Amino acid sequence: MTSFEQGPIRPPSEAFSLLVRISRNCPWNRCAFCPVYKGEKFSLRPADEVLADLDAMRATFGDRPRTVFLQDANPLLTRPDDLVRILEGIRARFPRVERITAYARAHTLAIRSLTDLRRLRAAGLDRLHVGLESGADAVLKLVDKGVTRARQIEGGQRAKAAGFELSEYVMPGLGGARLSDLHADETASALVAIRPDFVRLRTLAVIPGTPLAALEARGEFIPLGEVDTVCEIQRFLLGLGTLPTRLESDHMLNLLGELRGDLPADRARLLGLLDDFLALPADDRRRFILARRLGMRLRSGQLDDPALRGELDRVLARLEAEGMDAEALFAEMRTRMV
Ligand code: SF4
Repeated sequence: MTSFEQGPIRPPSEAFSLLVRISRNCPWNRCAFCPVYKGEKFSLRPADEVLADLDAMRATFGDRPRTVFLQDANPLLTRPDDLVRILEGIRARFPRVERITAYARAHTLAIRSLTDLRRLRAAGLDRLHVGLESGADAVLKLVDKGVTRARQIEGGQRAKAAGFELSEYVMPGLGGARLSDLHADETASALVAIRPDFVRLRTLAVIPGTPLAALEARGEFIPLGEVDTVCEIQRFLLGLGTLPTRLESDHMLNLLGELRGDLPADRARLLGLLDDFLALPADDRRRFILARRLGMRLRSGQLDDPALRGELDRVLARLEAEGMDAEALFAEMRTRMV
């Protein structure tokens, strides 16, 4: 057999990883902002089926893979004995693999025994990506994340105690305008309690058809504007204090792609980047946002290019003439970047 199954998503940092699907879809599937597995049923794949996939992958890719990502949303629900077999199967077939990573729900981490988590770590599972999204109970409840702040902290701390490298995803804008300050403060303090190795930003986009879009249509969720989202990130970064962690901004949805560095050493530089953006004249901020939402990877200094400025101004003038609201347009453009 040379065919194998793969799931629909992986984190940006796993772009070059071998994708091994050990479960299908998401067991929770209720997060209001998430469009990924809606309407799909969760299932665990039998270990023998996954091992057959690994044989097919070995036949296709040889021993080239260096990193592996286990799909889909929560592979840690697999029985620990089966997961250990799969991890050992990966290591046996791909001896050059340096890192195996998986998504994990904090809830699952909190209910798995430390003994089982340590067994998985010893079998070669190196890194876990957890969707913290927010450390504020009010925000977690609003978006039906299915986990409390206390559980998020407990799950993250257990992953660290078991020896995993831990990456926590944070979603700027998730509290909307009403809960922005709380979201920034409580997310930062939750991370200070967890002490993850990585904090990854992935800015909210309200995707049509999701429960969050329905909340917005009813006026129960007021999205945060682009500039206010930068202010929220500034407040969040200040809240991290001296936490030692690596901040990553590796998703195109993030307005400031260069907001990455080692904390706390790079804290002043990163706060300076935020200050620089906020100090831009309003027209330059709009040009910058438009360029980013068009998919350009630029720094604010690049706006000095007269040809680029002219092009962006023509687009903005056309929108204005058509009576379009720039903020609504940016929000719509963000949905196409998911
Ligand atoms: S965000 Fe993650 S846990 Fe929530 S529904 Fe989507 S895949 Fe499932």
